[in-house]
Amino acid sequence: MNMRSIRVLLLAASAVALSSCSINIGARDDKAPPPPVAVAPPPAPVVAKPGPEDDPRLLATLYMQQAEELRRLSKQAYALAAVRLPAALKKPGSSALEQTDGGKGKPPAAIFDVDETVLDNSPHQARAILSGTRNFDLGQWDEWVGERAATPMAGAVDFVKELRRNKVRVVYITNRECRPRATNPGDPCPQHADTLANLNAVGLGPVAPEDLMLKGQNGWPSDKAPRRQEVIKTHRIIMSFGDQFSDMMSVTRKDDSATRARIAAAHEDLWNTRWIVIPNPTYGQWVDVLPEPISGSLRTK
Ligand SMILES: [Mg+2]
Repeated sequence: MNMRSIRVLLLAASAVALSSCSINIGARDDKAPPPPVAVAPPPAPVVAKPGPEDDPRLLATLYMQQAEELRRLSKQAYALAAVRLPAALKKPGSSALEQTDGGKGKPPAAIFDVDETVLDNSPHQARAILSGTRNFDLGQWDEWVGERAATPMAGAVDFVKELRRNKVRVVYITNRECRPRATNPGDPCPQHADTLANLNAVGLGPVAPEDLMLKGQNGWPSDKAPRRQEVIKTHRIIMSFGDQFSDMMSVTRKDDSATRARIAAAHEDLWNTRWIVIPNPTYGQWVDVLPEPISGSLRTK
């Protein structure tokens, strides 16, 4: 028997061994329980889609729209402004920190923010809640601006009339932003005409085009200081109005709540004479500066 024959015999023996082995295994399987029948996984639990009732903006927006208390706060803010107006006109000084010389000898002007200071945009917020749009949507906002349908904040119209009676220039500085719009081809800032029309329609005018300054116009940034600088070239700013800290002075989003409190405390005299805040619980820097999750900023003591 040569080597090749030996190899063939060995291979044959291996095949027999394997075959008997598989027979033995088969014999053990016969005694085992039958393999489990494949069962379809249970259906995923139905999770209710978050609706308007779950929207964190719901209460604040209802407060803006339904609370007589909010209307009264706004009216009281403007009534307080009317009480302070004679002294603001008479006493030297400026409500703009940028006007370091006090604006002596210049005619008076008052600076107003627009949104949630003289115009109420809560219907836009309500639409976002009802449509489930959780993040700010520039397209939806621009649609709202184009409707020119915002109503005045309580007390604003009467106070602006009082300013005009006193020959105070009324300037609106807003962070409504200039953006081209498909329906207004060729106009780099259709939002300017929209806002002008809205202000005039509700009795906050007549607004001269140069008395409404938008973000992006003339390259103006969101910081309102450069626009205040424009006004102080020719006028003394006697009072400032806004729902945000930054309507009065430059602050950044890096300034946390404690820093903002310290900055505010440094200008107690202006808060008590020339700066008027309009309440806005629905959005703003006050909430933007809180770290996520914002529930971590709740105080329990
Ligand atoms: Mg505002």
